[in-house]
Amino acid sequence: KNGAAIIDGKAYAAGLRERIKAEVPKFQEETGRTPGLAVVLVGDDPASQVYVASKHKATIAAGMESFEHRLPADTKQEDLIALVEKLNADETVDGILVQLPLPDHLDEKAVVMAIDPDKDVDGLHVINAGRLANGEEALTPCTPLGSLMLLKDQLGDLSGLNAVVVGRSILVGKPMAQLLLAENCTVTMAHSRTRDLPDVVRRADIVVAAVGRAEMVKGDWLKDGAVVIDVGINRLAPDPGKEKGRLVGDVATAEAMDHVRAITPVPGGVGPMTIAVLLRNTLVAASMRAGLDKPK
Ligand code: NDP
Repeated sequence: KNGAAIIDGKAYAAGLRERIKAEVPKFQEETGRTPGLAVVLVGDDPASQVYVASKHKATIAAGMESFEHRLPADTKQEDLIALVEKLNADETVDGILVQLPLPDHLDEKAVVMAIDPDKDVDGLHVINAGRLANGEEALTPCTPLGSLMLLKDQLGDLSGLNAVVVGRSILVGKPMAQLLLAENCTVTMAHSRTRDLPDVVRRADIVVAAVGRAEMVKGDWLKDGAVVIDVGINRLAPDPGKEKGRLVGDVATAEAMDHVRAITPVPGGVGPMTIAVLLRNTLVAASMRAGLDKPK
C-alpha cells in the first residue's frame, strides 16, 4: 500500500559489478598485475557447483583472474589444507574462497582458519570477525555487507535507528549486527530462544531476517515504515504437476507490503548482492596487499 518500495538488489548488484570492473584497469596500471580469486570446491554438491560456476563467470566478467580448484569428494583434510597453504603463498592469488559446506569428513573450521586472513574474501576467519567487532579494517562476509549497502542506499544515514537482526549465524546474523552497530544503529539480535519475537520486531526501523524459515516474519510484526532486508532463501514444496517449488524468503512479503517503506524481494534482492560483494572483497584484498587505497 501507499508506495512500499521493492528494493532492486539485482540492479544494485549490476551497478556494483560495473564499478568494480571499472576499477580493475586502475589496479592493473598501478601494480602491473590482475586481481585473482581462487575458488576451491570439494565434491559434487549440485548447489555448490552452480554457485562456483557463477562466481567464476562473474570474476572473469569483472576483468579479474579466476582460479578454480575442483577436488574429489574423498579429498583428505591434509591435502585440502596443503592446497590452501599453496594459495596463501601464491602471489597471483588475492582472494581464497573455500565453497561450503564441505563433505562431512572434513573439518570446515580448520580449513577456514588455514586461509590467510588478508585473502579471506568470505570474511569467515576469526581474525576478520574480530577485526570487524573491534571496528578495524576487515574483510567482511559478503551477504551482510551487501545487505548493508542496500540499506544505506535506501536510508542514507542509519545513525540512531533501531535495527533487529533475526538470526545469529557466523555467516550472516552476527556480522550483520556488527555492521549495523558500526553504523550507529541500536542493534537487537534475535534468535530461536528470543521471547515475544513479534514484539521485538515491531520496535525495528530496520529488520534483517536471516533465519531460513519460509515466510516466518508476518506483516503485522512490522512497524509502519520499516525497511526490511529478507536474506532467507527457502524453497516451498512444488505445486501439483510442477517439478520445483517456489523460492520464498523469511518474510511474508505480500503482507509486509502493507506496512513497510521498502523490502527486498526473494529472489532478486539480497541474493545477487552476494557475488557482487565477493568481487568487491577480492579487489579490496588485492588493493590492501598491494598497499593501495581501498576502492570505494
Ligand atoms: P543458519 O541456519 O546458520 O542460522 C539461522 C539462524 O536463525 C540461527 O541463529 C537460529 O537461531 C535462527 N532461528 C531459527 N529458527 C528461528 C525461529 N523460529 N525464530 C527466531 N530465530 C530462529 O542460517 P544462515 O544464517 O546461514 O542463513 C539464513 C538464511 O539465509 C537461509 O535461508 C539461507 O539460505 C539464507 N542465505 C542467503 C544467502 C544469500 O542470499 N546469498 C547467503 C547465506 C544465507 P539459533 O542460533 O538460536 O539456532
